[in-house]
Amino acid sequence: MAERYRCIMLFGAPGVGKGTQGKMLGELEGFVHLATGDMFRGLDQESELGQEFLKYSTRGELVPDEFTVRLWQQHVADLVGNGHYDPSRDILFLDGIPRTVTQAEKLDPLVEPLAVVHLRAQDLDEMVHRMKLRAEKEGRPDDADEAVIRRRFEVYEEETSPVLGHYDAGLILEIDAIGSIEEVFDRIQEALKSVEDEQLSGTSR
Ligand code: AMP
Repeated sequence: MAERYRCIMLFGAPGVGKGTQGKMLGELEGFVHLATGDMFRGLDQESELGQEFLKYSTRGELVPDEFTVRLWQQHVADLVGNGHYDPSRDILFLDGIPRTVTQAEKLDPLVEPLAVVHLRAQDLDEMVHRMKLRAEKEGRPDDADEAVIRRRFEVYEEETSPVLGHYDAGLILEIDAIGSIEEVFDRIQEALKSVEDEQLSGTSR
């Protein structure tokens, strides 16, 4: 079997801070951040693929699994091709994928999860608030409307949260996502230390 991409998955409800944390983590040496939301938003919105994405995202729904995983594979291949990601050296921070159990199954032969960082926040109102601010700041059509945001949470509960059960419990790192960006970042880095030590000593052997 071909070598699987070593990855750390960022997992958590919409608005919990995956994107912000993922960007910061992706700046660290030896890591590459890959967010499927960014990947989709990077599509030409006039193209057929871009239209397909908007059809789902503007309703707070997930893009179909087959399309998502195919596009993701192409995106990773492009990152390798353009030198942004070297699978033999870098660890991928996967942000926003897998979002369904079917996606997790499709990714099984492609990725080797080293850890699943589960960002947790109980305060739904706080997350809705964060998402509205972000929508205004970034001009995101999916999060501009509260009904769409609420739908995103329902989809998360129904389709995405079962994904955690797909992975070995020993891989899951529970992180409290309430606090400043820096506080949460420190918690994640602390939790990842054991993973990195193991992996980095593993790769240098
Ligand atoms: P995000 O920026 O991660 O909140 O994603 C924005 C939108 O992109 C989501 O609401 C979905 O419509 C779509 N999307 C992102 N990742 C996935 C995925 N893994 N599977 C299906 N749809 C996704």
